[in-house]
Amino acid sequence: MSDLQFHQFPCLNDNYGVLVHDPVGGETFSVDAPEADAVLKALRDTGWKLTHILVTHHHDDHIQGIARVKAETGAMVIGPASPSIADLDRTVAEGDTIDLVGEEIQVIATPGHTLDMLNYYLPKSSAVFAGDTLFAMGCGRVFEGTPAMMWDSLKKLMALPPETKVYCGHEYTLANAKFSMTVDGTNPDLIARLAEVEALRAAGKPTLPTTMGLELKTNPFLRAADATIRTNLGMQSASDAQVFTEIRGRKDRG
Ligand code: ZN
Ligand code: FE
Repeated sequence: MSDLQFHQFPCLNDNYGVLVHDPVGGETFSVDAPEADAVLKALRDTGWKLTHILVTHHHDDHIQGIARVKAETGAMVIGPASPSIADLDRTVAEGDTIDLVGEEIQVIATPGHTLDMLNYYLPKSSAVFAGDTLFAMGCGRVFEGTPAMMWDSLKKLMALPPETKVYCGHEYTLANAKFSMTVDGTNPDLIARLAEVEALRAAGKPTLPTTMGLELKTNPFLRAADATIRTNLGMQSASDAQVFTEIRGRKDRG
């Protein structure tokens, strides 16, 4: 059991912000800063004092609040060495570790959606911040990398323990679940999850965080090796990367 406290809150149209707080040492970090007002309100709501911002990637809907949040809180900004991310105080890359909130945070590079994408894994708390790499029953669109690169990135996350809590950049879950049914519609875990997600969204509740174990059972983007999905796609003898690429392409065209 970890002592860390997690506060997830909606921002913009469908983004999530997250604050992580160590009540013992007092440090608090924000994952990205999608919207300054929402992050500052979350800090007022929790009473936590922001000390750090961990940046996942350079897209506006993840960094546009950084300048103001940093100016108002003095937080130290840590992220990938990307020319389009201003205000960085420290850059990190694959394999680096960050000592923060009383834990070791491991930096995992997951290029594909963007080339600079970093995810942050807290082994002790069993949580990962997946940015726009992995979503509930989905994955990020491949804007800057290649599908094969994205598949390699997803495999890094698939290797994390199944109990790992996964915090994602967006609430795309319901649309992802409906797409997932088009390639894996007989999967009982997926059918059950679609019903759960529909109920949560109808009640205005978040569907995140998810867990790696649940994603491995229900996320078709992680299930390229699954025999039923392969049969559904007519790709029994293709490589896992090819099956992933086909599923990503169908979602993009859908
Ligand atoms: Zn993005
Ligand atoms: Fe995004």
